[in-house]
Amino acid sequence: MENTNIFSDFNPDIPLAERENIISCRNLNKWYSNELHVLKDVNVDIKKGEIVVVLGPSGSGKSTFIRTINGLEEIQKGKIVVDGIELSNDKANIENIRKETGMVFQSFNLFPHLTILKNITLSPIWVRKWPKKKAEEIGMQLLERVGIPEQAHKYPGQLSGGQQQRVAIARALAMQPKIMLFDEPTSALDPEMVKEVLDVMKELCCTGMTMIVVTHEMNFAREVADRIILFDQGEIVEMGTPEELFDNPKHERTKLFLSKIL
Ligand code: ADP
Ligand code: MG
Repeated sequence: MENTNIFSDFNPDIPLAERENIISCRNLNKWYSNELHVLKDVNVDIKKGEIVVVLGPSGSGKSTFIRTINGLEEIQKGKIVVDGIELSNDKANIENIRKETGMVFQSFNLFPHLTILKNITLSPIWVRKWPKKKAEEIGMQLLERVGIPEQAHKYPGQLSGGQQQRVAIARALAMQPKIMLFDEPTSALDPEMVKEVLDVMKELCCTGMTMIVVTHEMNFAREVADRIILFDQGEIVEMGTPEELFDNPKHERTKLFLSKIL
C-alpha cells in the first residue's frame, strides 16, 4: 500500500497535538434501560489522523461507544461532534456523519449474493452517485491495497475469513471516510488470518486516516496506537499513550485488566 492516502490531504509533518479535533465527545451517557447505564459521562477528543485503541473487559461499553460515534446508537445525554457536525437524531444529519465514518465489524457482513467488487462498489454508486466505471476503478485500487485484486469476481463464500475482512475494509474505504471505526475486526478469525488483517490496518495507520479500534490485540495496540482508552463498566478508567498505559498504569482497574490479558 502506498504511503499516502489517495483520499486525504493529510500532512504528517504536523504533530498530533497541533492538529484539530475530528471527534469530540462530551459527557456521553447512554442507557439501554433504566437499570442499564452503559456509557457514563464519557469525555474524549480525538485528533485528525489519531489512532486510538479501545480496550476493556467484555460488556464494558466499547462497542456501544464506537457505535454512538456514527449514530448507530442513540445517546440520551451529552454531545458528539464529528468533523464539525454535531450529531443529532435528524436523519439527514446522521447520514452525513455515516458518509464520513467507515465501520468494520467482527463479522464481516458482506453481501453473500454479490461479487467482491460489487460489494465494494455498491455504496459508492448508490450513495455517492459515482459512475460505475469510476467506482470499479477505485474498487480495484482498493483491492490492490488490501492485497487481493485477484478475488474481485468471486463471491464472499469463496474467500477465507481474513480475505473477507480485508474486503470489508476495502468496502468501507471506498466511501472515502475520514474516520474508520473497527469493532474487534480480528476476533472472529482463525489465528493464522489475524496478521493479514492487522497488516492492512497498520498500513492504513500511516495514511492519515483517523482510526478507533476496539481490539484485544495488545501487540497491535502497543505498536500503532497514539492513545489507548481503557473502558470499564461504561466509564473511561484511564487514557494515555501505550507506554503510559502498559508500562505505568495509574489505576487499579487498569492494572487488574492488564494482569488478566498480558
Ligand atoms: P463491549 O463491546 O465492551 O463488550 P457493549 O457495548 O457491547 O460492551 O455492551 C455494554 C453493555 O450494554 C452490556 O451490559 C451489554 O449487555 C449491554 N448491551 C449492548 N447492546 C445492547 C442492546 N442492544 N440492548 C440492551 N443491552 C445492550
Ligand atoms: Mg463489543
